[in-house]
Amino acid sequence: MEKNCLFCRIISGQAPAEFVYENDVVVVFKDIYPKAPVHLLIVPKKHIRSINELSETDREIVSEMILTAKEIAKKNLISTTGYKLFFNVERGGGQEIFHLHLHLIGGWI
Ligand code: 5GP
Ligand code: ZN
Repeated sequence: MEKNCLFCRIISGQAPAEFVYENDVVVVFKDIYPKAPVHLLIVPKKHIRSINELSETDREIVSEMILTAKEIAKKNLISTTGYKLFFNVERGGGQEIFHLHLHLIGGWI
Protein backbone atom coordinates (compact mmCIF):
# COMPACT_ATOMS: atom_id res chain seq x y z
CA MET A 1 0.00 0.00 0.00
CA GLU A 2 1.44 3.33 -1.13
CA LYS A 3 -0.40 6.19 0.48
CA ASN A 4 0.04 8.51 -2.50
CA CYS A 5 -1.16 5.90 -5.01
CA LEU A 6 -4.72 6.34 -6.26
CA PHE A 7 -5.22 2.64 -7.02
CA CYS A 8 -3.88 1.60 -3.58
CA ARG A 9 -6.41 4.01 -2.09
CA ILE A 10 -9.21 2.49 -4.19
CA ILE A 11 -8.16 -1.06 -3.21
CA SER A 12 -8.18 -0.16 0.49
CA GLY A 13 -11.57 1.57 0.22
CA GLN A 14 -10.17 5.06 0.88
CA ALA A 15 -11.18 6.26 -2.59
CA PRO A 16 -14.37 5.30 -4.44
CA ALA A 17 -14.66 3.06 -7.51
CA GLU A 18 -17.27 0.85 -9.10
CA PHE A 19 -16.00 -2.63 -8.27
CA VAL A 20 -17.13 -5.58 -10.37
CA TYR A 21 -14.93 -8.32 -8.87
CA GLU A 22 -12.45 -8.97 -6.08
CA ASN A 23 -10.40 -11.93 -4.86
CA ASP A 24 -7.25 -12.31 -2.72
CA VAL A 25 -4.94 -11.19 -5.50
CA VAL A 26 -6.80 -8.76 -7.77
CA VAL A 27 -9.64 -6.29 -7.92
CA VAL A 28 -11.58 -5.24 -11.00
CA PHE A 29 -13.31 -1.88 -11.29
CA LYS A 30 -14.78 0.30 -14.03
CA ASP A 31 -12.54 2.88 -15.67
CA ILE A 32 -13.82 6.33 -14.74
CA TYR A 33 -13.31 7.62 -18.32
CA PRO A 34 -14.36 4.60 -20.43
CA LYS A 35 -12.88 4.44 -23.93
CA ALA A 36 -15.28 1.66 -25.01
CA PRO A 37 -18.74 0.39 -24.01
CA VAL A 38 -16.95 -1.99 -21.63
CA HIS A 39 -13.77 -0.62 -20.03
CA LEU A 40 -12.55 -2.37 -16.90
CA LEU A 41 -9.25 -2.32 -15.05
CA ILE A 42 -7.79 -5.51 -13.58
CA VAL A 43 -5.53 -4.39 -10.75
CA PRO A 44 -3.29 -6.45 -8.44
CA LYS A 45 -3.68 -5.72 -4.73
CA LYS A 46 0.10 -5.60 -4.45
CA HIS A 47 1.55 -2.22 -5.39
CA ILE A 48 3.75 -2.74 -8.44
CA ARG A 49 4.63 0.42 -10.38
CA SER A 50 4.52 -1.00 -13.92
CA ILE A 51 5.38 -4.04 -16.02
CA ASN A 52 9.02 -2.92 -15.70
CA GLU A 53 8.94 -3.58 -11.96
CA LEU A 54 7.58 -7.13 -12.17
CA SER A 55 9.80 -9.76 -10.58
CA GLU A 56 10.05 -13.54 -10.93
CA THR A 57 7.96 -13.94 -7.77
CA ASP A 58 5.05 -12.03 -9.38
CA ARG A 59 4.24 -14.81 -11.88
CA GLU A 60 1.13 -15.84 -9.99
CA ILE A 61 -0.15 -12.26 -9.90
CA VAL A 62 0.26 -11.83 -13.65
CA SER A 63 -1.47 -15.09 -14.47
CA GLU A 64 -4.27 -14.25 -12.05
CA MET A 65 -4.75 -10.90 -13.81
CA ILE A 66 -5.05 -12.54 -17.23
CA LEU A 67 -7.29 -15.38 -16.10
CA THR A 68 -9.51 -12.89 -14.27
CA ALA A 69 -9.73 -10.78 -17.42
CA LYS A 70 -10.89 -13.83 -19.36
CA GLU A 71 -13.62 -14.60 -16.81
CA ILE A 72 -14.77 -10.98 -16.58
CA ALA A 73 -14.97 -10.74 -20.38
CA LYS A 74 -17.20 -13.81 -20.33
CA LYS A 75 -19.44 -12.30 -17.63
CA ASN A 76 -19.76 -9.12 -19.69
CA LEU A 77 -20.79 -11.21 -22.73
CA ILE A 78 -17.92 -9.98 -24.89
CA SER A 79 -15.92 -13.22 -25.04
CA THR A 80 -17.22 -14.37 -28.38
CA THR A 81 -17.37 -10.98 -30.10
CA GLY A 82 -13.90 -10.10 -28.83
CA TYR A 83 -12.03 -7.56 -26.76
CA LYS A 84 -8.63 -6.02 -26.16
CA LEU A 85 -6.31 -6.53 -23.20
CA PHE A 86 -3.39 -4.15 -22.79
CA PHE A 87 -0.84 -2.65 -20.43
CA ASN A 88 0.45 0.88 -20.85
CA VAL A 89 4.05 0.95 -19.65
CA GLU A 90 5.57 4.17 -18.26
CA ARG A 91 4.91 7.66 -19.59
CA GLY A 92 5.99 6.99 -23.18
CA GLY A 93 3.62 4.03 -23.27
CA GLY A 94 0.69 6.13 -22.08
CA GLN A 95 0.72 5.05 -18.43
CA GLU A 96 -0.81 7.69 -16.17
CA ILE A 97 -1.44 5.72 -12.98
CA PHE A 98 1.73 4.10 -11.69
CA HIS A 99 0.15 1.02 -10.14
CA LEU A 100 0.10 -1.95 -12.50
CA HIS A 101 -3.24 -2.52 -14.26
CA LEU A 102 -4.53 -4.47 -17.22
CA HIS A 103 -7.10 -2.71 -19.42
CA LEU A 104 -10.03 -4.82 -20.66
CA ILE A 105 -11.99 -3.02 -23.38
CA GLY A 106 -14.69 -4.16 -25.75
CA GLY A 107 -18.40 -4.22 -26.37
CA TRP A 108 -18.33 -2.44 -29.76
CA ILE A 109 -20.22 -5.27 -31.48
P1 5GP B 1 -3.14 4.21 -17.74
O1 5GP B 1 -3.12 5.36 -18.69
O2 5GP B 1 -2.30 4.49 -16.51
O3 5GP B 1 -2.81 2.89 -18.38
O4 5GP B 1 -4.63 4.03 -17.30
C1 5GP B 1 -5.17 4.64 -16.18
C2 5GP B 1 -6.67 4.55 -16.33
O5 5GP B 1 -7.24 4.88 -15.08
C3 5GP B 1 -7.23 5.54 -17.35
O6 5GP B 1 -7.93 4.82 -18.36
C4 5GP B 1 -8.13 6.45 -16.53
O7 5GP B 1 -9.33 6.78 -17.20
C5 5GP B 1 -8.40 5.63 -15.28
N1 5GP B 1 -8.61 6.42 -14.09
C6 5GP B 1 -7.95 7.56 -13.72
N2 5GP B 1 -8.39 7.99 -12.53
C7 5GP B 1 -9.34 7.11 -12.13
C8 5GP B 1 -10.18 7.03 -10.97
O8 5GP B 1 -10.13 7.85 -10.05
N3 5GP B 1 -11.05 5.98 -10.90
C9 5GP B 1 -11.13 5.05 -11.90
N4 5GP B 1 -12.05 4.09 -11.73
N5 5GP B 1 -10.37 5.09 -13.00
C10 5GP B 1 -9.48 6.11 -13.12
ZN1 ZN C 1 -0.54 1.40 -5.63
